[in-house]
Amino acid sequence: MDSKSLADKLNEFPRARFAYLPSNIEHMKNLSSALGGPNIFIKRDDQIGLGIGGNKTRKLEFLLGDAISQGKKKVVTFGGPQSNHARQTVAAARKLGLEPVLFLFGEEPQEYTGNLLLDRLMDATIHFIPFESGSKRLEDAVADMKAEALSSPDVSEEDSYIIPVGGESPIGLLGYVGAALEIQQQMETKGLRLDYVVVAAGTGGTVAGLTAGFRLLGTNVKVIGIDVGALWKDFEPSIAASATSTAQQIDPGMTITRKDFILVEGFVGDGYAIPSKEGVEAIRLLARHEGIFLDPVYTGKGMAGLIGLARKGFFKPSDNVLFVHTGGVPALFAKGKEVLSLL
Ligand SMILES: *Cc1c(COP(=O)(O)O)cnc(C)c1O
Repeated sequence: MDSKSLADKLNEFPRARFAYLPSNIEHMKNLSSALGGPNIFIKRDDQIGLGIGGNKTRKLEFLLGDAISQGKKKVVTFGGPQSNHARQTVAAARKLGLEPVLFLFGEEPQEYTGNLLLDRLMDATIHFIPFESGSKRLEDAVADMKAEALSSPDVSEEDSYIIPVGGESPIGLLGYVGAALEIQQQMETKGLRLDYVVVAAGTGGTVAGLTAGFRLLGTNVKVIGIDVGALWKDFEPSIAASATSTAQQIDPGMTITRKDFILVEGFVGDGYAIPSKEGVEAIRLLARHEGIFLDPVYTGKGMAGLIGLARKGFFKPSDNVLFVHTGGVPALFAKGKEVLSLL
C-alpha cells in the first residue's frame, strides 16, 4: 500500500502522543569512511523525548493509548533491573497520570544506578521476581510473567493494563510500523535509496514491527536484527509470527516469513547484558568518530554486528545502511567499570 494509506490505517488505532517525531536521521560520514563503506546512517530513536528516550517509547504510544481507551488506571510491566523498557513505561505512565507497577527479574540490587535509579525517582512500585532465560520460548515466558503479575495484590485484571516484556505485542509493534513509514518518507526527502536497516534484537519486536512496516509498504528494504541476548528458543519463527500478527491488524491477508528479515547471531558475547569486547569497541568507535553514545547491552552489540558484517564484505560499498539507535544509554553508567575494563 502507499504511504498515505498506511498512515490513515495507523491513525485508526488509539494512541497517546508524547514522542518527538520524526526522530532525526544523521549520516555517519566519519564512521562510514573509517570502515571503508557502506554509507551508514543512524536514526536517533535514543532522542525521542520521553524520559531519556529509546525504542519502547514508540511502542508505548500505542500501548498506553489502548490502556486509556479501556479505562485502565495502572500500567504493569516486566524487565531486568536495568530495563530501558521499564524506565520508559514508568515515564509514560507518569506523564499520562497512570500508576506504574514493575516486576524486575532477580534479587534487589544493593545499589540503585542507571535505569533503576530513574525508576525510583519516578516513584514506581517495584517488585523483584525470579526469572530463568535461555531455554523458554518468548510466548511461554510472557504467559508466565502475566500469571505472576496477576497473583500480586498490586495488580488486578479490571484496572491494570499488563504490557509484556519489551512492549512486544501486536499493538505495541504498530509503533515500529509507523517508524518504517517515517524512515521511508525521510529517505525519500533526502533523495536516497535505502538498502538495509540494522537494529539490535532483544525480544525481536522492533525487527518484527519494522519488517511488517516495510512489507506493508511493498519496499525492498531488508531489516537485519542482531541478536544481543540469545534469550529465546525458536527466535526466528517467533519474530515472523509477531510480524505477521502486527501486519494483519492492517492488512488481514499478509503473511511474513523468516525470509523477510535477517537475524544475525554471534554478537552476544558472554551473555545478555554482559558487556562484550566487540560491543565496547563499537561504543568507542561511535564516541570517537561521531560523538554519539551507544549502550553496552543492546546498541553497542547491535553496532558491533553491523561493523562485523561490513568488515566481512556483506554490504556493497555503495549500499545505504540505516542503524536504528534504540537508546539504552542509562545502562552505560550502571556498567561503567565493566565497559572500561574492555576498552
Ligand atoms: C529493548 C531494547 C532493544 C530491543 O528491542 P526489542 O524490540 O525488544 O527487540 C534494543 N535496544 C534498546 C536500547 C532497548 O532498550
